[in-house]
Amino acid sequence: MQFEWTEQQQQYRDQVAAFARQNLVDDVCRRDHTGSFSQTLWQKCADFGIQGMNVDAAYGGRASADILMSVAAMEMLGAACRDAGLLLALNAQMWSVQLPLLRLGTEAQKQSTLPRLCSGQWKAAHAMTEPEAGSDAFGIQTTARKTSDGYVLCGEKCMVTLAPLADLFLVTATVDPDKGRWGLATFLIRRDNPGLKVGVADAKMGLRTVPFGRLSLSECCVAADARLGSEGEMAALHGLLEVERCCILACQVGAMQRQLEDCVVYARSRRQFDRPIGSFQAVAHRVANMKVRLETCRWLLYRVAWLKSKNKSALAETAALKLHLSESFVDSSMDAMRVHGGRGYMAEYEVERDLRDAMGGVFYAGTSDIQRNIISSMLGVA
Ligand SMILES: Cc1cc2nc3c(=O)[nH]c(=O)nc-3n(C[C@H](O)[C@H](O)[C@H](O)COP(=O)(O)OP(=O)(O)OC[C@H]3O[C@@H](n4cnc5c(N)ncnc54)[C@H](O)[C@@H]3O)c2cc1C
Repeated sequence: MQFEWTEQQQQYRDQVAAFARQNLVDDVCRRDHTGSFSQTLWQKCADFGIQGMNVDAAYGGRASADILMSVAAMEMLGAACRDAGLLLALNAQMWSVQLPLLRLGTEAQKQSTLPRLCSGQWKAAHAMTEPEAGSDAFGIQTTARKTSDGYVLCGEKCMVTLAPLADLFLVTATVDPDKGRWGLATFLIRRDNPGLKVGVADAKMGLRTVPFGRLSLSECCVAADARLGSEGEMAALHGLLEVERCCILACQVGAMQRQLEDCVVYARSRRQFDRPIGSFQAVAHRVANMKVRLETCRWLLYRVAWLKSKNKSALAETAALKLHLSESFVDSSMDAMRVHGGRGYMAEYEVERDLRDAMGGVFYAGTSDIQRNIISSMLGVA
């Protein structure tokens, strides 16, 4: 068993942490209030090589990170950058669009998209969810009708991270509803396609610094070479989802570390009844619970990343990680608010925002109930 980062991994972690501390700090409190995305921070990430960390140099990336290094980098971003919306946007593009492109894309598809995505020139979104198909992701109703030279897509998508700003969409549709999941296919669609309408940003509880939106596809024509992988290969994307969950969740582990450090400082410095509030057992135990959640989440995360680095299947482990981490982040965000008392409730102290942002994690990439379904079915119970 090995519980340490290698020298190279540690160096990369330190570099990303230093970059984020110096460059990804801004008036996120105000932007959360106005619901504004920061193009400046997005571009700084691209210039440093975040978007390109897992992309080969031939496609404009840095090829600097395997799964373990990606997790390490994302954890450091989560610890140093308080803009959870920006981090979700990065994750949504990197793992839900770039990774499928790298695995399933043709040379021409990769050449025409990845350099622009890595450089920050473009943003991309993965549109899967529909008004009538959320957890039942394989029940999607958007159709892709085959024509002599391509496909015509019709349908609606919703809750798509980054949609209002995206230049490129990876859209999942069914080519043959009778085949269920094996009848699905994904298509690369440019924003300027006349058959695609992108809605305005929808209001939401948290993660307000990244816009979400709807897509409407009406007789949306794409060439045959817009299809990513073969028909039915969408099912193969499932393995990729494990990686996605790992990396998205790494940012939350970083955020929990930052949250704990803030609470320790506050519990030691805030005085009531002539004593630091941390000397009261009720407060101290809350901080202890946050530490236990952080450590259990972190080691679950590292184990899943390690399994993926060895090309091992990690379906149940990833479901356990997704479930435990997303729920723990919510619980710790509640504890952080209680440690800060009334100030925790005030926007300017930047404590309550974590709770609003954390709630999103309970739903995306499979809700907590769906993770429990996966775990219990892997145990042969359900
Ligand atoms: C922050 C955030 C980012 C997102 N980003 C994207 C994105 O980029 N692209 C995209 O396509 N989608 C995105 N989504 C949508 C997300 O994937 C869906 O919200 C999610 O799949 C759940 O679907 P639903 O909201 O329709 O809920 P539903 O599926 O309608 O579920 C409602 C409730 O029923 C429960 N439930 C449903 N089925 C079962 C079952 N079989 N067993 C037990 N309980 C069940 C659920 O757990 C939930 O509690 C995002 C959502 C959020 C919150």
